[in-house]
Amino acid sequence: MLADFTILRPGSVAEACRLLQEHDGEVAAYAGGTELLLAMKLGFADYPLLLDLKGLPELGSLAVTPQEVRIGAAVTHRRLERSPEIAAALPSLVALERRVANPRVRAIGTIGGNLAFGEPHSDPATYLVATGARLVCQRADGTRRTVPAAEFLTGPFETILEPGELLVEVWIPRPAAGAAIAHQRMVLTERPAAAVTAAVTVDGGLVTAARIAVGAATPVPIRVPATEELLAGAAAEGLLDPAGDLLPRAGTAAAETVTIESGADVTYRRQLVAVLVRRAVHDALRAPAAVASSRPSRGGLTRAPAPMM
Ligand SMILES: Cc1cc2nc3c(=O)[nH]c(=O)nc-3n(C[C@H](O)[C@H](O)[C@H](O)COP(=O)(O)OP(=O)(O)OC[C@H]3O[C@@H](n4cnc5c(N)ncnc54)[C@H](O)[C@@H]3O)c2cc1C
Repeated sequence: MLADFTILRPGSVAEACRLLQEHDGEVAAYAGGTELLLAMKLGFADYPLLLDLKGLPELGSLAVTPQEVRIGAAVTHRRLERSPEIAAALPSLVALERRVANPRVRAIGTIGGNLAFGEPHSDPATYLVATGARLVCQRADGTRRTVPAAEFLTGPFETILEPGELLVEVWIPRPAAGAAIAHQRMVLTERPAAAVTAAVTVDGGLVTAARIAVGAATPVPIRVPATEELLAGAAAEGLLDPAGDLLPRAGTAAAETVTIESGADVTYRRQLVAVLVRRAVHDALRAPAAVASSRPSRGGLTRAPAPMM
């Protein structure tokens, strides 16, 4: 049962931040309310004031520039899932969004709410760490800061947001030529128990850069350098060879190095991580952008040192 509350409807992000600071402790912002209202119903949170972010045009923007995709914090999962612009610029994000939650949650739940709630079982958070996304936040004094997605979440249900600060936009760099992204997850009870995003660049048949992030099984999404180093310089053809051992080793390296969230079945989650890393890297290498760059150059299946992306 929900206790009574009053809804505030600010006219701008600046006013919203001011109200949040003025009423700190008594007010919570919300967009779709899929997390906040559930937490209030279950008695985990109690606010007499709720600040409605949905009507703020600055938070509802969606733009594709030559460098990046810029998504307002109050853009819903459904809008992302159905946007032709996003489908053209970042097809892997559309594929991810189609599998988030269920149609009802996707219709009103937002990318900003997903990130700001700090729910550890998040698909977008893992994706944004692998892709090197940046998050734009605005403070109550009107100043803005842009932080790497990898620094935004500091623990389960914890973010860097200060009192009076809102997440405004998510900026995702567009993949370079030959780069492809794939996201894999395993859902146990509604939300992912483990999630992996692989962002892999292929040139002349060799992996020239790999960014692999593991989330949902871990307290916050993290990159796995041990796996990235194994993949860098490897031949795409060799990684895709079902008899090859490098891809399984890359999965095992991730499973062995990540910290699994407390309370989880550690052995099972590590197995999930190993499998999902293999699948995500495999899918990225099979994506059209990577396949187009996969023709081996003269050296064919040799390994070469490669810089990180
Ligand atoms: C049944 C179910 C299944 C789900 N499955 C998945 C899944 O498979 N994968 C996945 O990734 N997620 C999943 N989710 C999470 C879902 O993505 C989030 O519930 C949704 O995106 C939250 O958005 P919202 O706008 O409703 O957040 P709200 O409930 O409105 O807000 C959540 C929190 O974020 C804060 N907040 C919201 N917007 C901002 C902002 N701009 N700046 C600062 N703070 C803000 C609010 O104060 C609140 O504390 C699931 C959720 C449910 C209920």
